[in-house]
Parts: sequence; structure tokens; C-alpha cells
Amino acid sequence: MPELPEVETVKAALLPVIEGRTIQHVRQMRDDLRWPLPGRLADRLTGRRCGTAYRRAKYILIPLDGNEVLLIHLGMSGSIRIYEHQPQFAKHDHVSVQLDTGQWFVFSDPRRFGHIDLIKQGELETHKLLRHLGIEPLSNSLSGDWLADRLAGKTAPIKSALMDQRIIAGLGNIYVCEALFTAGISPRRKAGSIRADRAGKLVMAIRDVLAQAIAAGGTSLRDHVQPGGEIGYFVQRLSVYGRAGQPCITCATPIRHITQTGRSSFYCPHCQR
Ligand SMILES: [Zn+2]
Repeated sequence: MPELPEVETVKAALLPVIEGRTIQHVRQMRDDLRWPLPGRLADRLTGRRCGTAYRRAKYILIPLDGNEVLLIHLGMSGSIRIYEHQPQFAKHDHVSVQLDTGQWFVFSDPRRFGHIDLIKQGELETHKLLRHLGIEPLSNSLSGDWLADRLAGKTAPIKSALMDQRIIAGLGNIYVCEALFTAGISPRRKAGSIRADRAGKLVMAIRDVLAQAIAAGGTSLRDHVQPGGEIGYFVQRLSVYGRAGQPCITCATPIRHITQTGRSSFYCPHCQR
């Protein structure tokens, strides 16, 4: 599943291709993905000029002239490919956009949990997918004090609190496990027991883990975006995620696997307290 670093990577690849460009043609093969697509989507996009794409949580947002914003969510299996010329379309290429440069970007999604929406600029903050989102994990406003404040009094495990998109937006299972390992915090610890100093470590760990993944994406991107190529998702070197029973990279204690709120958690019972 595309996580925040992958979405950031896709956004970064898309940005220079679409910025300031006009949408020439839209090939739309379905009128729904996870939810119905906006009515007359292809018509409404044609002729529009794209502004500077940005990311919010796991959403790619492309401002268009006429004060509307195109929202793209990759869902579970979505991807975006960029082409220099019209490609050979494949079965799951649901929405493809041709720009005035002749370049195309193609949204593909075999499992169709993704979503595309066209939102009035003024309604962005109250949009159902965006209004409950918490702070951006890479934002400078996220500090140890801020996080400790938000966790205070919570009896849920810290793992669940970090997965709660209303507190920090866009953190997925893999990066939460990795950040907790880096910060030396057990995923089972009560969220409310984490005070400012450890919360500060945790914030730094979250930033580091995401920044490394984004940097790795940047590297694989240069290899993958070559003619007709896919913007690749990347396999990062992971310290604990998916490593049940294997030795901890710090102390060699076998990594433990538990299920929390229906999701897998991986941690080192020695290094993480
Ligand atoms: Zn360890």
C-alpha cells in the first residue's frame, strides 16, 4: 500500500510535469473508483491549467485555475505513471490525462480503493476526507511538547495513537513500527505515559524514518521514471517491520510480532520500553 513517502515521491515526480501546464485531453474509463467520481470529470478537467501540486497526508492535491483542486488518493494499489507520449493503455488505467506538452500521466488502480475528486478551493478544509486530518508529520509545528499534550490522558497503546489520523496525518503501519523502534518506545506503552522528552525523541524518529524513505524514493525514482517508466515504490531497509523472529539490529534479541487493533506490530522487547 502506498504510504506517505511513496505519495510524496509520486507528487514530487508529478509536480514538474504538470506545473503551469494545461490539460489537453482526459481519457476516463470508469465513473467510479472507491466512490463515484465527480460528474463530467473528463469534461471539467479539459482545458484547465495546473498549479503547484502538494501533498496532505496521503492525498495529492493539484490546484487548478477556476479555484478548484484535483484530489488524487492512491488507495491500496493505485499508482501514477508518467509518459512522454501517448502510451499503450492497460486494463486498470482508469483516468489518463494528456497535457499541452504532449506528456501524459496515468492513474492506474487494480483494486480500485483509490479516489479522485474535484473540490472547490473554499471547501477543501471541510471536505470529508480532509477535515479530520491531524498535523503533518513533517511539519515544523509538530514538536515533542505538542505531541505529549495530545497524548496526555490517553490509555490506548502509543501504536494506536500514532495510527490515529486525527492526531498525526498520513502515518501508516510500517513507519509507525519503525519510528517506535528508533525512539526506543514499545508499541504497547500507554500513549498517555509518554512525556515531553520521549515524545521529542519520537517526533525526531518519525521525521527521520519518513525522510529516509522519501530520499530512497527519490533515488529509485530517477531510475524508474525513464521513458514510459513507472514511478516506482521502493523497498526501504526496515529495522523491525516484517522481521518477526529475526535478530534485532541493535541487540540481537528476536523481534516480536503482536497484533494491535487488527494490525501487525513488530518490536524489540529489549530495546523498546
Ligand atoms: Zn533490540
